[in-house]
Amino acid sequence: MNLRAGIPFVVSAPSGTGKTTVCRAVVEGDDGIEFSVSHTTRARRPGEEDGVHYHFVDRDAFAALAKRGGFLEHAEYAGNRYGTSWTAIDEPLAAGRDLILEVEVQGARQLRDRRSDARFLFLLPPSLSELERRLRGRGTDSDEAVRARLDIVESELAAVHLFDYAIVNESIEGTIRAVREIVAAEREGVTEGVRAKWDRARVVAGLAGTLPIPSV
Ligand code: 5GP
Repeated sequence: MNLRAGIPFVVSAPSGTGKTTVCRAVVEGDDGIEFSVSHTTRARRPGEEDGVHYHFVDRDAFAALAKRGGFLEHAEYAGNRYGTSWTAIDEPLAAGRDLILEVEVQGARQLRDRRSDARFLFLLPPSLSELERRLRGRGTDSDEAVRARLDIVESELAAVHLFDYAIVNESIEGTIRAVREIVAAEREGVTEGVRAKWDRARVVAGLAGTLPIPSV
């Protein structure tokens, strides 16, 4: 019998950093962790399935759920609404399954205040030019949507100080390994090693001006 509750791992990053690719690989390689499936009003991208990648809803349905108190957190991001419903997390956590909550930084901020059981991981792009290259190369968003995402990168980067861990996504494989190591350490409750390795202040200091991040 599994006696421990699942751990919510909150993963944030500026759009285009590669967090979805990283999180998918972590979930695919580990039976004990799954995605919390969010609600969004954004249009479905090719290949996305309702109920798997998101619950795709219109603005009225989203507002109605928000009004009923159905969201643990929600935010408006680049013209669309996103939210984590209680339904998405309560049952898996109670059953002892760990969760990845992939959220933008306003959501992470709300979760920081509301969930003392959550662990917070922030992924950083190696540079702004690399981030723009990845966003444009993805080819799934209009030029306007890409610009909307780039406009908020600086404020997103400033949020790194809210997180327990900061990882620079230099290579997808390296970042996947890092997240797996952190998940394993948090499960065991032996976190000194990973906390030192991906300490946010040290990681930010090591970036030495390559990204516009205010020091605290
Ligand atoms: P995308 O449109 O690229 O799928 O997601 C845009 C941003 O919204 C990403 O940073 C993604 O992590 C975030 N996001 C996805 N689901 C949620 C959610 O439930 N809550 C919040 N606050 N952000 C979310």
